[in-house]
Amino acid sequence: MSFVDLGLSQPIINAVNEKGYNEPTRIQKEAIPVILEGHDVLAGAQTGSGKTASFVLPILHMLSDKSVKGPSSGRPKIRALILVPTRELANQVRDNVEIYSKNLTLTCTEIIGGVGMKAQVNRLRSRVDILVATPGRLLDHVAQGTIDLTGIQILVLDEADRMLDMGFIANIKKIMALLPKNRQNLLFSATFSAEIKKLADGLLNNPRLIEAESNNSTAPLITHKIYPVDVEKKRDLLKHLIVMNNWQQVLVFTKTKHGADKLAYFLEKNGIPSAALHGNKSQNVRTRTLSDFKESKIQVMVATDIAARGIDIIDLPYVVNFDLPNVPEDYVHRIGRTGRAGKEGFAVSLVIKDDLRLLLDIEHKIQQKIDEEVVEGFKPTDYANFRVLNKAKKKPTQGQVKTSATKTNAVSPNHKARAEGKKPYSSKTFTKKKPV
Ligand code: AMP
Repeated sequence: MSFVDLGLSQPIINAVNEKGYNEPTRIQKEAIPVILEGHDVLAGAQTGSGKTASFVLPILHMLSDKSVKGPSSGRPKIRALILVPTRELANQVRDNVEIYSKNLTLTCTEIIGGVGMKAQVNRLRSRVDILVATPGRLLDHVAQGTIDLTGIQILVLDEADRMLDMGFIANIKKIMALLPKNRQNLLFSATFSAEIKKLADGLLNNPRLIEAESNNSTAPLITHKIYPVDVEKKRDLLKHLIVMNNWQQVLVFTKTKHGADKLAYFLEKNGIPSAALHGNKSQNVRTRTLSDFKESKIQVMVATDIAARGIDIIDLPYVVNFDLPNVPEDYVHRIGRTGRAGKEGFAVSLVIKDDLRLLLDIEHKIQQKIDEEVVEGFKPTDYANFRVLNKAKKKPTQGQVKTSATKTNAVSPNHKARAEGKKPYSSKTFTKKKPV
């Protein structure tokens, strides 16, 4: 199947082909025709699946279709609103819109926090067809009366699960209340929790469910590996692995912002060009760090989950969990940055004995026992008992999801609806989640 078969117009197909994509990914194959038919959509899609184009391309098609009646008179209004959780993701989505709309006359802008309002107000004064925004800053513009949302025909909630994790639900509801009732809604989420289901119930009108995380062209080719280590030797082990294996473009995750700063400083001091990316950095620093990393000016970027969310770096080869994430879903999000678009990727985790419960939850989530390697000189002192879970000693820490809860979080909305004896979502396509 090619992009032509999906019903997209020639200028859009040309732009996609010029970008080097000839074959749609699975989510694109499944979502694009349904969106073009005008349906609301609830899509389960990870970063890396090609999900951005799966909503951007049909939006461009619909907005540039002269046969579809636009607003009859007056100044053109914003017609599509794409809400995203982070500034970096807003940048990327806007970049995507610009690439795919290069042969069209549509305009797109982004509204994000952390930068001045004035330039945004000026951009909003000129014609904007598609707006990519983070919720808080969008509401700032609403409060100041510098934005008009009364022409919105299509609303996208991208990475909705992460928006909820970040506490944006109240803001999302406020924004929804400002939009015209008659519109198409597209909700994309990597996971389906009860909260997402509730949001979907309130937002979507007879939605089509599309769950297509991976396909042949973007199927993650990821090698997972754990390195058991004692906590005090973690930094040295990471340095050793990077230097001995000559890893370039390494994205390292830490639990805390402070941990990210400390680790980046340590690596830098040891001759490995590194920088930290987290929410306490100014937007300018974050943008610069990201572009330095993309251009390989820095070898290692140490990030927290929220800051790294949605980062799109093609061919990112190494993702390192310096600290394991508290919830297995975050492991999936983190490693979603490697092994993309058919490239090989390595997901490496440094695991201390106290993290065994987290490791088991992750292995359960990805349905795979992860290979381990003990590096000479870094063998944990109690290695004989490394894989022995001491239940009496280790209680789940706050915020940590137990295996049973993880299971509930991971089920599809249809499965859950059926389990609750409710009518499932109408489903054109329903494919079982594949292990990552
Ligand atoms: P996304 O899931 O939207 O973050 O996209 C992941 C990566 O796949 C991005 O670098 C996209 O540019 C790329 N991509 C999107 N569509 C295709 C396609 N049809 N073929 C190959 N790569 C694609």
